[in-house]
Amino acid sequence: MAYQALYRVWRPQTFSDVIGQEVITQTLRNAVASNMTSHAYLFSGPRGTGKTSCAKILAKAVNCLNPHDGEPCNECEICVAANENRLNDVIEIDAASNNGVEEIRDIRDKVKYAPTEAKFKVYIIDEVHMLSQGAFNALLKTLEEPPANVMFILATTEPQKIPATIISRTQSFNFRRISRQDILKRMQFILDDKKIKYDNEALEIIAASAEGGMRDALSILDQALSYGDDELNLKNAQEVTGALSNEQIVSYMTAISDNKPAEALTSLYQILASGRSALRFTEMIIRVCRNLILYNSNSDLSKQMDNSVMTKELLDIADNFDNARLFYIVDQVSATQKNLKNSNQTDIYMEILTVKISEPKVAQQTIVAPTESDNDKGVDNVEFDKLRDEISHLQNEVKDLSTGVRIATPTAKPKSHRRAANTNARLNKTAIYKVLSNATKDDLAAARDIWPDLMSMLSITQRAMMKVAEPVAASIDGIVVAFDYAMWFEQVQDDTDFLKELSDNTSRLMKKDCQIVLVPKADWPKIRKEYINNNIDLSNKDNVESKKETKKTNPTVDEALKLFGDDIVDVKDD
Ligand SMILES: [Zn+2]
Repeated sequence: MAYQALYRVWRPQTFSDVIGQEVITQTLRNAVASNMTSHAYLFSGPRGTGKTSCAKILAKAVNCLNPHDGEPCNECEICVAANENRLNDVIEIDAASNNGVEEIRDIRDKVKYAPTEAKFKVYIIDEVHMLSQGAFNALLKTLEEPPANVMFILATTEPQKIPATIISRTQSFNFRRISRQDILKRMQFILDDKKIKYDNEALEIIAASAEGGMRDALSILDQALSYGDDELNLKNAQEVTGALSNEQIVSYMTAISDNKPAEALTSLYQILASGRSALRFTEMIIRVCRNLILYNSNSDLSKQMDNSVMTKELLDIADNFDNARLFYIVDQVSATQKNLKNSNQTDIYMEILTVKISEPKVAQQTIVAPTESDNDKGVDNVEFDKLRDEISHLQNEVKDLSTGVRIATPTAKPKSHRRAANTNARLNKTAIYKVLSNATKDDLAAARDIWPDLMSMLSITQRAMMKVAEPVAASIDGIVVAFDYAMWFEQVQDDTDFLKELSDNTSRLMKKDCQIVLVPKADWPKIRKEYINNNIDLSNKDNVESKKETKKTNPTVDEALKLFGDDIVDVKDD
C-alpha cells in the first residue's frame, strides 16, 4: 500500500477525536443528538485547526444509521461509505479551484433533488471566501430558501471576506489555533502508537513551528521522520523546520548586542548559507526579542517566556539589551518581513536589517514605528543605497575577519515558507469599516475618557499587552484600538477570550453595547485612506452597497477631514 500521510491516517473520525476545539465539537454533538442541526454552518479559523475534519464528521453524524450521543458510529454502511469518500450525498467543493458562478448554479439546480442514499445531502464548501461575487449571490439565493434535508458547511480561513448577508444565514463557529501543548500531546500519542523513538526537544520545535495548526505539525513530523531511520531526533527536526541551531542565533544576537555589524553579517551569511529561510529567521529574531522583553520586564511576565527558545546563553546576553532597543529591533524586523514577502532580493533586505539593528548609532535613536511607506514603497531608496554602500564596505571587513567563511551570497536559495497567519489575515477590516462609517470625535473622546478605567480592570499581564495600544476612532457602538507593535496586536487579536473581555468591560463602562476592534498602528493610516477612498468612489458612482444602508450619507472629504484631522489631506492627491 502506498504511504499515507500522517495527517490523513490520523484524521479524526469522531467529534471526540478532534483536538483543541472542545466547545465547538460539544455543541455540534448536542445539535446532532437532539436533531437540532442548522441548515447552514460557517467554520472559520486558521489553517489546519480542524474545520474540514469537523465538517466531514458532521456530515457523517447527521446521516449515520446508528449515531451515539451525536457521534457517528463509523461502522454502518453510510459511515463506511463516507469514510471512503464514496457517499454521493456528501459533496465537497474546493472554492479555491471552483470559483465560478456555474458550479454554484449547478448546486442550485441539483439541490432540489432529494438525497439518494442518506438522510441529508451535505455540501462542504472549502475556502468559501474564494467564491466570486456572482457565486456568492447564487449561494445566497440557495441559503435564503434552503430545501429540506440539505445542509451547507462553509469553511474559510478568511471570514472577513465573506458577505455579511451570507454570514447572517449561517451558524458560525470560530476555530482556535491549537495550543502547543495539545499538538505536542497528539504527536507523542501517534509516535507511541507507531513505536517510534523521539526526542522531546525535537517535538517542541515542530510544535512551535506549526503555529497552532495540527495538519502542519503532522506534515512536518512526516518529513522529519523520512530523514531518520524511524527515529525523531533534534537535528532532523531542525533541518525540516528550518529552525536555527542554538549557536547560530546566539552568535547573531551577541553580535547585535555588541554593536558589531561586521560580525553580525558574518553570522547572517552562515545562517543563510546553511539553507535557512530568511523569513523563518526573522520570525525567530522576533520570538527571541519577545522573550527578552518578557525576561527584562518583571517576574510576572517572565513566566510567559517560551523556554524552547530561551537558552541559558541567550539569557546571559539579556542584560545587554534594554527594552527600547528590543522594541526598535522588533519594529525593524517586522518592516523587513513585509519586504521579504514581496521581494526576490531577500538577502539584501536581510543585510540591511542586520546592519541597521547592529549599529550603535541607530540603536540609540528614538523608536519609530514602521511607517506606511514601508508597506507601499519598501525601504526608502536613498537609505537603501546608503546602506548598500555600507554593506559592501563591511563585506570587505568580514573578509579580513574570517578567511574560512564563504561570503558570497548563498547559491541555494532558501525556499520561502509562506505562512497564511500574518497580520493581514488577522485584520478585521469589515469591523473597522463599520466603526469608521459612524465615527465621531465625541465618541472618540468618550472612549479615551473611559480608557484608564478599562485598563484598571485588567490583569497585570493584560495591561502590559495593552500598554502600547490606544483608541484611534470610535462610533456609538465600536472603538478601533491601534497597537504600536504588530506583535502585540497579533497576540491580543488571537486571544478571543481577552478580546471579548475587553468589549464586555467597555460596554459596562459605556453603559451600552460597544465592540473593541484592533489594528496595528502601522496599518492604520492606510486603512483609513482605503475607507475614505472607497466611500468617495462609491458616492461618486452613486453605487452604494445596501449593507451601508444604516448610514444616510457617505462622508465627503470635508467630513473625513473633520473626523481624522489634517493628516488625511493627501488622500485627494492619490
Ligand atoms: Zn454510522
